[in-house]
Amino acid sequence: AAPVITIDGPTASGKGTIAQRVAQALGWHVLDSGALYRLTALAVLRDGGDGTDEAQAARLARRLDVRFQPDAILMGGEDVGALIRQEEVGNLASRVAAWPAVREALLARQRDFRRTPGLVADGRDMGTVVFPDAPLKIFLDADVGVRAQRRYKQLKDKGFSANLDDLLQDLRARDARDRGRAHAPLVAAADAVTVDSSHQGIDDVVRQVLDLWSA
Ligand code: C5P
Repeated sequence: AAPVITIDGPTASGKGTIAQRVAQALGWHVLDSGALYRLTALAVLRDGGDGTDEAQAARLARRLDVRFQPDAILMGGEDVGALIRQEEVGNLASRVAAWPAVREALLARQRDFRRTPGLVADGRDMGTVVFPDAPLKIFLDADVGVRAQRRYKQLKDKGFSANLDDLLQDLRARDARDRGRAHAPLVAAADAVTVDSSHQGIDDVVRQVLDLWSA
């Protein structure tokens, strides 16, 4: 099987950017698994759901018609890349992600991303559940205050309104849900290398991951 580098960690730790950069440097494929949970949440919202119906969410997750392109995420042909970054969608994503039936529905779809020459997969359970045999596993952590600041800047840059205190509260709630859920909780795999990005820039973290891979 093609090699996989897994990058797991809490919300807004920089996983997405780091995964993209590492994949680019190696010429590998990339899996943004959080996008699949966000797309499921968007599908639930559009289906008139309120995040209380596990079977509905699992059904929608199984049927997701999605195509990942370099600069777009297409759902049923519509680019929803910006839409799924909104906090409302992210919050619902973290709730539907707690349901075992939803996680099960997305499992095979995630494993399909494993292709030669390799895959960089970012999420919460990439190293523990989806690709337990990955030869390199990173657990990317960062202080919650630093993460809130980064998310704030990200949202502002994209023209969305944002409030730092609300973001901090949301992040804490999402961390608690991701870490506390019974099924596939956010936890570093036993064989993962923990990297803390609170006080380092993206380039430093990318270099560290590439060094670990070539070591
Ligand atoms: O990483 P991102 O914030 O885009 O993920 C959205 C939500 O999906 C997270 O809050 C998390 O609860 C969930 N998720 C997950 N497992 C993954 C990726 C994301 O539970 N592998």
